[in-house]
Amino acid sequence: MSATSPPSCPHCRTTMDPGFVVDRGHGNSMSEQKWVEGAVEKSFWLGLKTKGRDAFAVTTYRCDRCGYLESYAHTRTK
Ligand SMILES: [Zn+2]
Repeated sequence: MSATSPPSCPHCRTTMDPGFVVDRGHGNSMSEQKWVEGAVEKSFWLGLKTKGRDAFAVTTYRCDRCGYLESYAHTRTK
């Protein structure tokens, strides 16, 4: 499977629509969901510590029929 061809739903066998899950970032701003390596480390000031870790922007595909979500973390981000 490549990043250019959307996956099909394992339940309905229909093509899934690409999108992303919105996270509330610093200052309640909207941001895309990210996958970060390692275990969760909480910081009092920043919420979660992610500095120096590998992080990937998450693309989530959604099945229009049953609502099934499938996520891929292809793109490295900060
Ligand atoms: Zn489905």
